[in-house]
Amino acid sequence: MKPQNKFQAQVVEASRTLPQVTKEQVNWGYENGIDHIGHRTEKGVITCTKCGHSWQGAGYLVTTLTDCDCPNCKAKLKVETTKKRMFNNRYYMTIITTHKGYQVLRSVMLFYSAKIGEATKYDYSEVMQRWIAPGGKHCTLAKLRQTMGNCYIDSWIYHTDIELRSESTNNKFYINVYDKIHTSVIYPQQQLIPELKRTGIKKRNFNQKPFDVYKALLKNSRMETLLKSGQLSLFKSFLNDAYRKVDNYWASIRICIRNGYKIKDATLWFDYIDYLRFFGKDLHNAKYVCPSDLHREHDRYMHKKAKADAQKEIEKLREKEEAFRQAKAKFFGLTFSDGLIQVRVLESIEEILLEGKLMHHYAQYMVMRSHLDNTQNINPIYSKRYA
Ligand SMILES: [Zn+2]
Repeated sequence: MKPQNKFQAQVVEASRTLPQVTKEQVNWGYENGIDHIGHRTEKGVITCTKCGHSWQGAGYLVTTLTDCDCPNCKAKLKVETTKKRMFNNRYYMTIITTHKGYQVLRSVMLFYSAKIGEATKYDYSEVMQRWIAPGGKHCTLAKLRQTMGNCYIDSWIYHTDIELRSESTNNKFYINVYDKIHTSVIYPQQQLIPELKRTGIKKRNFNQKPFDVYKALLKNSRMETLLKSGQLSLFKSFLNDAYRKVDNYWASIRICIRNGYKIKDATLWFDYIDYLRFFGKDLHNAKYVCPSDLHREHDRYMHKKAKADAQKEIEKLREKEEAFRQAKAKFFGLTFSDGLIQVRVLESIEEILLEGKLMHHYAQYMVMRSHLDNTQNINPIYSKRYA
């Protein structure tokens, strides 16, 4: 597609001078990005599909359950006992580099084709480049993909050129296809633009795609603050959960940072802050936001909240007393008994609440509520007592 704005035009211009992927990079990928198969015959002869070396292996269980290294080339092999003699596979590798002030992530596809008795063939094709500007804006250059008649999002058409592509989610998968491409192995020599170097991220990616980590850091200076202040649990949790907004908690996070209070379990702490918010506590006060025993304080407020919720529930029910009386009146006075258990319809909200208290369980209220909510469908509520 043609550049739609100045930013895209600048990236396309910069991409013209991006050097080719080097032989070293590709060879590193062949060595480290491919799972080589150890082909095992029924008689236990193993052939390394990397170097072609064959040897008599140990028994089936030993070679399939333990790691198997080729005695000749030392490659770690995945042993398969099969009559199949051809093995083809493809793997991604990612190269993290910079060019003309942009952070660039290059996806290279590695091909591996092994046939027993022949030398293994390797090949590669660079399929995608993601260009990120220091402000966090990005665009994607890629080869064309085959979109008809198959269910893979990444059926690259290898002879096409890497060009600027639209990242619309208007496809049959309703996703940004380029976001879904695996990062897989990362070439160890990485380059970062100064704006990322400064954050101290280095090679860490916290089990996320480097692309997502870089974008989060470049777009939101608060992520950089979290990383630098060592609030890694918070950092990871904002990376994982795009719906949770840093801004909603920032005032309290700043208090924690200022007080040198490390949040070890972000999910628990968020929960706790939400309780404090509910009860109108001061979210700028270290006394509240930096508890010495987070678990204990969290549980205390959790119980407090459950009580408050139950009370609200009761008040709602009281308001519905009249509707309840009308709906259930025809059952009032009704009792059943089989001599052992006596069943009787509860006749007022007060009675149901009392019953609920006797049962020591809020579930009782919930059952009752569902009856009230659906007065068309009249299910009398019974009190079961041993006669
Ligand atoms: Zn080998």
